[in-house]
Amino acid sequence: MSRPRQAYCARGLHLLDDPRNVAFKQSRDRPPRRYCLPCYAATKRSGRLPRLALAPSPRQLEVLQDRANGLSDEEIAERDDVTVSTVRHASLRARLTLRVTPTTAAAVAVCLAYELIKPDNSGPLPPRDARTAPYAASVLALVQGQREPLKPKDVQRARLLDALYAWSEPHAVSVLWAAKTISARDVAPLFARGKR
Ligand SMILES: [Zn+2]
Repeated sequence: MSRPRQAYCARGLHLLDDPRNVAFKQSRDRPPRRYCLPCYAATKRSGRLPRLALAPSPRQLEVLQDRANGLSDEEIAERDDVTVSTVRHASLRARLTLRVTPTTAAAVAVCLAYELIKPDNSGPLPPRDARTAPYAASVLALVQGQREPLKPKDVQRARLLDALYAWSEPHAVSVLWAAKTISARDVAPLFARGKR
């Protein structure tokens, strides 16, 4: 009996039961090998990101690092004894500086890609399995500006954060980065869109 086929690709992002995600590599003596098309396309995209014209200020990066570590705007404000709107303003300024980041989650991803901040390796990392895959894919869609951040009261948000061992969506980006599920190649499309 042969091994059961994996339902998700090696990065745990794409459902391989979906024919749109699958291609086959033909070789002479072996049976054709299945591979993940979206991941193949991501690898083919240049891993090189454009040079950043302007980097966020040290304080703005500090806020994004805190958000990447799972702190909320409110928690950062309390710790630093500033108002919540001061904290929000810092992440907004950072997003405007980076230009291509529609959300804080995207700003965290771009800063991780340029190694301006560090991913959160401190806790357990989300496994790459069928349970987490749809959530990882959803975070990737958020990073790439294909969906809005989920509302705090949204049940789907609680499920997503549970599955990815994360405190917030920006934190989910950070733990998926630490798990190498999301990486710099996933950030490249943001810049491609910006050029148009
Ligand atoms: Zn894939």
